[in-house]
Amino acid sequence: MKIRYFVCPFLILCLCSGCGHNEDIRMQEQTVVSMTKNPQYLESMQYPQTPYSKLNQEIQKAVHDWQGSFLLQLHAIHQYENNIYYEAFYNGDRYVSYALHMYHNTGKSQEDIKTFVYDKQEDAVLRIDNVLDEKQLQSLATYADAYFKKQDLQACNTNRYRSHISAAISNYERFVVTNDGLLFYFPANVLFDNETELFVRFDALQPPLAFEKETASTYVPYGDILNEPTKHIDPQKPMLALTFDDGPSNQYTASILDALKDNQASATFFVLGSNAARNPALLQRMVLEGNEIGNHTYSHKQLTTLSKGRIEEEIVATQESIFNITHLYPDLIRPPYGSKNDMVLQCAQGKQLVAWTMDTQDWKYRDAKRIVSYVEENVKDGDIILMHDVYATTAQAATILIPLLKDLGYQLVTVSELYAYHPNGL
Ligand code: ZN
Repeated sequence: MKIRYFVCPFLILCLCSGCGHNEDIRMQEQTVVSMTKNPQYLESMQYPQTPYSKLNQEIQKAVHDWQGSFLLQLHAIHQYENNIYYEAFYNGDRYVSYALHMYHNTGKSQEDIKTFVYDKQEDAVLRIDNVLDEKQLQSLATYADAYFKKQDLQACNTNRYRSHISAAISNYERFVVTNDGLLFYFPANVLFDNETELFVRFDALQPPLAFEKETASTYVPYGDILNEPTKHIDPQKPMLALTFDDGPSNQYTASILDALKDNQASATFFVLGSNAARNPALLQRMVLEGNEIGNHTYSHKQLTTLSKGRIEEEIVATQESIFNITHLYPDLIRPPYGSKNDMVLQCAQGKQLVAWTMDTQDWKYRDAKRIVSYVEENVKDGDIILMHDVYATTAQAATILIPLLKDLGYQLVTVSELYAYHPNGL
């Protein structure tokens, strides 16, 4: 497999729009990660925890309600699945919004989207009727109807569509405030068979909404591209690949990157597309410091239970999300839970599916000492080691392991480098 030693000269550094204040809200947000893998079910939940207790209470209630209804449906060893991921949106220093995407598979799949808009200044979680008056709601319904009819007139000719497009508050309760408009979500089987979104600029409604419109994110050329470290890999010496899944995390990934940089070591980060979009600076840092980024899908659903169209969506949305930030398309895919079949292979379209040779089970034990001693006792030349950069204990373990493995004589390389240079590589 060909490895890239250059970084695209068009690599760009995303700067926060306007001034640094949006960054403040982002820095305060933490991601709660819950992962379970047992014979009865698979679970991957990632949701935000903020400094605002009113907002947290609502988010946690939605998560617990969803998880509770999932657990009630467990009755046999079937490897049912529960999945939650989220998107974040900011408007100035005042409004932060989250969209929680929730999915069950208990023989049949169920999905929902819950949104939360928080006004920091008023310390209040806003509903759509706090944001729109009667006139604006009417104007929104007219706008939405015209928009969808222009897209596909035929698909709008259903009773379901007519009842859910009307100017009723409950039809538009799933919304977030972005930097230049409102984004509405319509789950599957509400307006149409598939989930649908509608974006409405603040000034598209009559009368216009009073949110402050921000200029779009500005991009500037990144000046340090040529300073990417040159690597010397000796095919005769032992090597291994550390891999970190499910991130990046704004709490833990940076400290792992620090340890890698301090020890002239590289790793591979199998990122979720949903998390990549919220942490562009971390992805750019990964690339600039000689690490590799792999595709771990957008939402962390088990691919083998999804339709071909949805598998493709998961892969392509993540490829694009990573490309938009780094100007590189990943060559590697690691399917969540390691689950793959012929359909997944087909949808990978020639990109390498990567498993692991050592599972630290860091998500289960959350014990840095245990991770370090397990790796130290079992590591061998050519290993691909599975960890997750979304836990404090994993970040602690990594900062100990990286210099330790170097001392033991291992070269810490990316997965693509391992494949290219190791005698057991592909
Ligand atoms: Zn994973």
